[in-house]
Amino acid sequence: MTDLTHDLPFWEGFSISSLDVQDDIVRIRLEPRPDAAMVCSGCGHNCAYVHETSWRQIRDMPLFGRAVWLKVRLRRLRCPECGPRTERLSWLGRHARITNRLAEFAAHWCARLPIAHVCELTGLHWETVRRIDRARLQEKVDALPIPEPTRLVMDEFALYKGHRYATVVLDAATRRVLWIGEGRSREAIRPFFEWLGKERCGKIEAVAMDMNTAFDLEVQQHCPKARVVYDLFHVIAKYGREVIDRVRVDEANRLRQDRPQSKVIKQARWLLLRNQENLQADGKARLQELLNANQALMTVYVMKAALKDLWEPVGGKPWRHAWRTWHAQARESGIEPLRRFADRLAPYWRGILARMR
Ligand SMILES: [Zn+2]
Repeated sequence: MTDLTHDLPFWEGFSISSLDVQDDIVRIRLEPRPDAAMVCSGCGHNCAYVHETSWRQIRDMPLFGRAVWLKVRLRRLRCPECGPRTERLSWLGRHARITNRLAEFAAHWCARLPIAHVCELTGLHWETVRRIDRARLQEKVDALPIPEPTRLVMDEFALYKGHRYATVVLDAATRRVLWIGEGRSREAIRPFFEWLGKERCGKIEAVAMDMNTAFDLEVQQHCPKARVVYDLFHVIAKYGREVIDRVRVDEANRLRQDRPQSKVIKQARWLLLRNQENLQADGKARLQELLNANQALMTVYVMKAALKDLWEPVGGKPWRHAWRTWHAQARESGIEPLRRFADRLAPYWRGILARMR
């Protein structure tokens, strides 16, 4: 009988010694062709002697909707350079339990489908597909050009419902994630600067961050040219939590006797924290009514708009004047949470100003 598999490109160097279809599984037994060259997987040289052979069970691409199981006789060669070594095969990795073809097929679909679907499509185990997907992503990351950031964004986010934190560093220009690490302390982010290296650290001009963190000290230590800037979004979010919300609760308590009014204030959280531009007409009307009726809420609301304005680009001198005015008004407002917030923001004003230049 002529050997049908001789010219098939599937399993180079091997031929089929038996093929069996049972239920939904195709079982193929492969044996090395005696005439095929034997190449050492260590040094890549041809070898003449076989040290030993063993059988390995290997998954291949499904065929006509059936799973394909290969049973392959693999040779360990006696290499004069490396000693006993597995032979090198074009279609199978050294310790692989699936063929390169199947791995490539799975990786191709991982880019387009959820892992569970790829498992179904290939018949592979979830853990195997996840590993393939990870290797594919790593390859993609490795292929990206080496980042040369000049402006960074550092942010922290909560893990496990806020019990632990992680820090992410982005290139502000490309929005590419450069680094992620667990923790939010100075020590936790140090490996990022070590990874970036002295030369690239020296090119960093600005770093945006949340004013709550200790990142600024670490940035100054590694990046001598960098200005630390504070992100408007974080400051406004903090203002919402620590000033507006605090005053809302205080006012609701103060007006306990006036039940309807107290209730209106208590329920106005969303109305007060939302951006005014995003409110519908009736929301805007209700907000205006609420602010007109309550002096403290009106003050903190107006002061929020003025705080936002500090992020508008104006020259250094007008900005300094605007900041001093804001700070003074906050201190004289008689509203304790506002005064406290302004005092806490004061040491950071250079970081806000740095945005303007
Ligand atoms: Zn060798």
